[in-house]
Amino acid sequence: MSRERLVSPDLLSQEEESFNQTLRPPSLDQYVGQRKTVEKLAIALQAARQRIEPAEHTLLFGPPGLGKTTLAYIIANAMGAKITTTSGPALERTGDLMGILTNLGEGDILFVDEIHRLPANIEEFLYPAMEDFKVDFVVDKGMFAKTINVPLKKFTLVGATTRAGSLSAPLRNRFGLFFHLEFYSVDDLKQIISRSAGILGVPINDSGASEIARRARGTPRIANRLLRRVRDYADVKGDGKISDEIARQALKLEGVDELGLDELDRNFLSTIIRLYKGGPVGVEAISATLNEEVDTLVDMVEPYLLQQGFISRTKSGRTANEPAYKHLGISMPGGSPQTLFQ
Ligand code: ADP
Repeated sequence: MSRERLVSPDLLSQEEESFNQTLRPPSLDQYVGQRKTVEKLAIALQAARQRIEPAEHTLLFGPPGLGKTTLAYIIANAMGAKITTTSGPALERTGDLMGILTNLGEGDILFVDEIHRLPANIEEFLYPAMEDFKVDFVVDKGMFAKTINVPLKKFTLVGATTRAGSLSAPLRNRFGLFFHLEFYSVDDLKQIISRSAGILGVPINDSGASEIARRARGTPRIANRLLRRVRDYADVKGDGKISDEIARQALKLEGVDELGLDELDRNFLSTIIRLYKGGPVGVEAISATLNEEVDTLVDMVEPYLLQQGFISRTKSGRTANEPAYKHLGISMPGGSPQTLFQ
């Protein structure tokens, strides 16, 4: 079963991407949160500019919607460079990548999203490009095959991945800078929401921004999406201004509860609790019960539930923790987890 979830960290449509572009901070000083990353990146970029060199190859990792693409654009702006974007699964043939690489100018940025999904042959093709700024291209076949050595301009590869562990060591080793993006605090999300509301010209008060921030699952993309729904609601049911009351009503109507959980999250938790007695239960069994794909559950549902401590992932499967029982208003058999495991 596939459906569009308001709280999905993934992009829902191309239309949403154009909307997001208007909200994307263009420079590091407007990039909210991720203080350590921002500070280290600012130094690395300034050093590269002072030496009049391209920025080092940079790997960004972290869950979807946290601002990896935004950072790639910020790097390009800061270096005064052109940016070309592509993604791991989009690069199927070495010829595709060859075309992109030979079109890059000195210092340009190549952004590869989902870099852990690059096919193995493309990944190998990328090694000499990253290391020595050249590619070995084989033309013709069989006994007429020749390897042509093509020099490239010194470019910067910015890779983004949601799964750092799935990246091969040789690829990882060719990056000079690594940044791990973390879920945002409610305060950071509040700031992002207020900034976005300012750009969109929507009046919002502090408590209105808080209500949305609390439900945004630590993710700026979700914060901006929720803001959009609340803005519609405020325009139709209110006077266009976003207050805490308007935000609460709008998001309740959308099925997003006070911690940002939606129906799928709640069904996920109640399946473990009611059907499997709190677990452990394999994700395949939950997937069959909910009629949802395993990948959807693993990539889109579990990360936030794990981060919030609602569930644990063990070798024998998923278990529900006390906060999950509390949130659903179900009493925990045998008391709290502490008494169970003592
Ligand atoms: P990712 O590439 O990690 O999936 P994006 O860079 O596309 O995420 O970010 C999603 C949206 O969230 C962006 O369009 C931007 O508007 C917003 N955003 C992300 N990070 C920040 C940030 N640090 N400050 C302000 N807005 C942000």
